[in-house]
Amino acid sequence: MSELNELYQEVILEHNKNPRNFGEIKDANRTAEGNNPLCGDQLKLYLRIEDNIIKDISFVGQGCAISKASASMMTQAVKNKTCEEAEKLFSEFHKMVTGKLDPETEENSLGKLKVFAGVLEFPARVKCASLSWHTLHAALNNEKMASTE
Ligand code: ZN
Repeated sequence: MSELNELYQEVILEHNKNPRNFGEIKDANRTAEGNNPLCGDQLKLYLRIEDNIIKDISFVGQGCAISKASASMMTQAVKNKTCEEAEKLFSEFHKMVTGKLDPETEENSLGKLKVFAGVLEFPARVKCASLSWHTLHAALNNEKMASTE
């Protein structure tokens, strides 16, 4: 298929093998959990938020390669961002994987996260890719459980 799909596979496999920010944060002041029963993905996020900035973020959990790679890249993308910037990325990511934003033609801050645009072609995988983002959204809103609706 396209070059994008090759890149997408390469990036996802690499992050699945070596997930970034994997593990608990002992001094976390915010946590949230997310489940995707359709695939069996489960994850828990740990955040340390200070002065409205995500100073540290990590995750633990199990799931498919896409959910794990997405969580790994999400934590990299939002670390040291303000809560508002992280919410904006959540919104852009969600729009991208549901086909409401074309990252190639519309303005966005997604950067490397664009590799997940490929999940649009696999509707069953959209929740795998967005689970960690929904969980981040829950954590930022002081909710313990993510809604993936
Ligand atoms: Zn999955």
